[in-house]
Amino acid sequence: MNIRILGCSGSIARGCRTTSFLVDDDVLIDAGTGVGDLTLDELARIDHILLSHSHLDHVLGVPLLADSVMRRRQGRPPILVHALPETLQVLRQHLFNDQLWPDFTRLPSEQQPVLQLQPLAIGQTLTLGAARREIEVLPAAHAVPACGYAVQAPSGQSWVYTGDTGPNPALWQALQGRRVAQLVIEIAFAEADRAVAADARHHCPSTLAEELRHLPDGAQVLLTHIKPGEMETVQAELAERLPGLTLRALAAGQVLQLD
Ligand SMILES: [Zn+2]
Ligand SMILES: [Zn+2]
Repeated sequence: MNIRILGCSGSIARGCRTTSFLVDDDVLIDAGTGVGDLTLDELARIDHILLSHSHLDHVLGVPLLADSVMRRRQGRPPILVHALPETLQVLRQHLFNDQLWPDFTRLPSEQQPVLQLQPLAIGQTLTLGAARREIEVLPAAHAVPACGYAVQAPSGQSWVYTGDTGPNPALWQALQGRRVAQLVIEIAFAEADRAVAADARHHCPSTLAEELRHLPDGAQVLLTHIKPGEMETVQAELAERLPGLTLRALAAGQVLQLD
């Protein structure tokens, strides 16, 4: 199983793209600005988009992708956009409202639209894509309703993405008994912005260090969502708090391989 990191930054700047991960070549997890690095053919192969929550840095690729591939996907089933009902409601009301963007859930025709919104629930397991990947919906604790995902590799090990989240005891409970190969966990802010992080329900080094006490044995930690310009500070502050743990930050363009 391949997971291509299209974007893993907390915001934009040259070389920084927001969250998007491509599982195999037909399942997209979050649709941040990293989606724009895919070719038109690669975009047209995506059959499923899983969204973690409604924030713009995770969803803005959905309306643009729909526009790009609408003609190419004619005659094919709609791209299914899977998310919590609250997230889908935000997309309907504020994005696909024929004002901010055309309603691609009714285009090119109401009978055969390019997008279809598909609600999911925390704890649910979806089986998606040509490779029939099992993907479990995990709880997240963010400023808006949010979730994370655990994708099962062929060996039975999991690749886990926390989504945007602050301290989240329900996540560690959900991961109990699961063999986690890689944990992609968010950290948005440096310690100087601890109060902002708490308000926005994101991690900063001290909350992440506390949280990683629950890390499942053998799991490799990969950091995501660090704000542009904060990478060195965040990594140094984490190394100080977690001297025994190797923490790598994801990089756009990287391909993770799990057996
Ligand atoms: Zn967010
Ligand atoms: Zn975000």
